[in-house]
Amino acid sequence: MRHVLFSLAVFALACDEDPDASSDASAEVSDADVDVSDTDAEVSDDDDSDVDDDSDADDDSDADDDSDVDDDNDDEVSHADSVDDLLYIREEEKLARDVYQVLGDLYGTRIFDNISQSEQSHMDSLLVHIDRLGLVDPIVDDSTGVFVDEHLQDLYATLVAQGSQDLVGALTVGATIEDLDILDLAIAIETTDDLALADTYDGLMCGSRNHLRSFMGQLDRQGAVYTPQYITQAQFDAIVGSAREQCG
Ligand code: ZN
Ligand code: ZN
Repeated sequence: MRHVLFSLAVFALACDEDPDASSDASAEVSDADVDVSDTDAEVSDDDDSDVDDDSDADDDSDADDDSDVDDDNDDEVSHADSVDDLLYIREEEKLARDVYQVLGDLYGTRIFDNISQSEQSHMDSLLVHIDRLGLVDPIVDDSTGVFVDEHLQDLYATLVAQGSQDLVGALTVGATIEDLDILDLAIAIETTDDLALADTYDGLMCGSRNHLRSFMGQLDRQGAVYTPQYITQAQFDAIVGSAREQCG
């Protein structure tokens, strides 16, 4: 989903380039200004229409083609985005399960084993939707540390390395994973129009909030702090400052 956000950012940059192009148009029009110097206001109206003409002509350019495709996605292909989210989050829950399994084995701390089991149930509940929708499960090889998505594969290596340094590092990895999960689940809930799936995401997000509270409790006891990297500080404070929830 961060790919979507990234492409939106690129789209915004592409839009920013248009005014630069229009400043060329302004320069051309300013030649006309000399002739019609007493009607600056009217000329600047002409500027606008020239700019519009230019942007129409730019429709043939790559940047504008991309933005057209994005518009179509928003209107018509949101189902595909929703499917991508489901498959991605199924693997993201596996990332949590696998990292906690490794860290649990390393430190023998119960928190990682308990939450790892919870992540297995999160994975299972997403598989129900994958089957219901007739999709292909991305998890072909359920071995620890194996991912189809390259970003998750890289993230797994990074998080296991960080978590292997010491217990505070491991608990920080736990907080990081839950922080990320809460953001991605919130985006997935916004993207899907499948109410049953949104309901499942909601339950998973509730679980992630509890997991975050558990990791933060342990970090507190270690005298360590964690700064949210994905959700906002306000969202983080609201979760950590509130009581453990009963999740559906
Ligand atoms: Zn989870
Ligand atoms: Zn979790």
